[in-house]
Amino acid sequence: MKLSTFKKGLHPEDYKYFSHDQAIETLPLPDDVYLPLQQHIGAACEPLVKKGDRVRTGQLIANSSSYVSAPVHASITGVVMDIEKYYHPLGMRATMIHIRREGEEEWELLEKIQDWKWTPKEKLLETIRNAGIVGLGGATFPTHVKLNPPDDKTIDSFILNGVECEPYLTADDRLMIEQSDKILLGMAIMMHILDVQKGYIGIENNKPEAIARMQKRVVELGYPFKVVPLKVKYPQGAEKMLIYSVLKRKVPYSKLPMDVGVVVNNVATAFAVAEAVTEAKPLVRRVITLTGDGVNQPKNLMVRLGTPFKDLFEACGNVKDDVHRIFMGGPMMGMTQYHLESPVVKGSSGIVAVTGELVEELTTFPCIRCGACVRTCPMNLMPLRLSKFTQEKKCEDLESYGIMNCIECGSCAFVCPANIPLVQWIRVGKIRLREHKAKKAKENA
Ligand code: SF4
Ligand code: SF4
Repeated sequence: MKLSTFKKGLHPEDYKYFSHDQAIETLPLPDDVYLPLQQHIGAACEPLVKKGDRVRTGQLIANSSSYVSAPVHASITGVVMDIEKYYHPLGMRATMIHIRREGEEEWELLEKIQDWKWTPKEKLLETIRNAGIVGLGGATFPTHVKLNPPDDKTIDSFILNGVECEPYLTADDRLMIEQSDKILLGMAIMMHILDVQKGYIGIENNKPEAIARMQKRVVELGYPFKVVPLKVKYPQGAEKMLIYSVLKRKVPYSKLPMDVGVVVNNVATAFAVAEAVTEAKPLVRRVITLTGDGVNQPKNLMVRLGTPFKDLFEACGNVKDDVHRIFMGGPMMGMTQYHLESPVVKGSSGIVAVTGELVEELTTFPCIRCGACVRTCPMNLMPLRLSKFTQEKKCEDLESYGIMNCIECGSCAFVCPANIPLVQWIRVGKIRLREHKAKKAKENA
């Protein structure tokens, strides 16, 4: 059977074998959690608790009045020790609420919804916001905003993203195998909110058990959804690529999926939506893959948000002595980690530890104009030019060559024979362009 996919892209070794057959284990409750006030795209939250306060699991501890934001909840029962800056997996120090576990676990749930099918959509959106749900595939965009497109956008299709194309990661794969019913329920709720009839589930063909399980339960539960097995290719999990793979619709430059009538959500997000709407549970936990040849016992773990990475590694028999690098989120788009005190945040889908055998120290050479980066870029950009314009601080050129359309997938850097850190340059270029535009706007004001 010919499998659907998108144009361009690449095929990195997937290394899923370390953890794909490891059933999800629930990590025992941590002694301490560190919950950043910002774990989402949008406005940061303000703390609603202070040092010494006793909090229950699920209690609202930080919120924002901004629409594009997502509240934070206590992920364990205990006492607020302090609200200070701690190491964040994105590489900086960020303000976090530190809770120490104390006493028996007690839950504070959301307002209960009796029957979601008969509940006004506004109320369901409010519940999803109150639960603090964001895109758990790593994008961390608030889900209540995504499920509430402007009136002038007509949405006709919903795609559930079960692609998980980053090498090594298997959290979504295991969730689909073990929690298919709850994921499908979350998908049905989201489609109900959007008033959409056509639902697709995109899963890459390297997850045969997940495809079979989802197909079986879709039929048995009578959902009108279509499971779409996809050819394995990176970065198919990016929304624009997935929409093309499943529906053959192209999202134009500077446009969003809703501009072509589609909303995409990740399987872990669907799971969280089902828990919030049908069990009144706010987002206080997630599944994360701990893997790589540098981990003694790779695992998929259900963990409380805010748990320090070191606790996760302890549960996996710790890292090996010759670990060379640790990433959060996979090697293509992930961030290198320097502090194992950093906590699990809403966007943490995996932590990968690799030894020197799998990571070479790369020397950078001048560009040889081979064009490999251009041929690979799924967004049809010219990474070599973007990198050069950034170095030369040519902001007008950065804009006209569409730097803001880069999805930072890392494909260009992966194929570059000169080992030029193209994505890092592009990230810097985006910052320079934003600063340049802000300066211009100020001058013209
Ligand atoms: S330029 Fe951006 S979108 Fe294109 S391959 Fe590089 S990182 Fe991916
Ligand atoms: S892949 Fe690397 S060497 Fe080849 S054109 Fe692009 S930047 Fe230059």
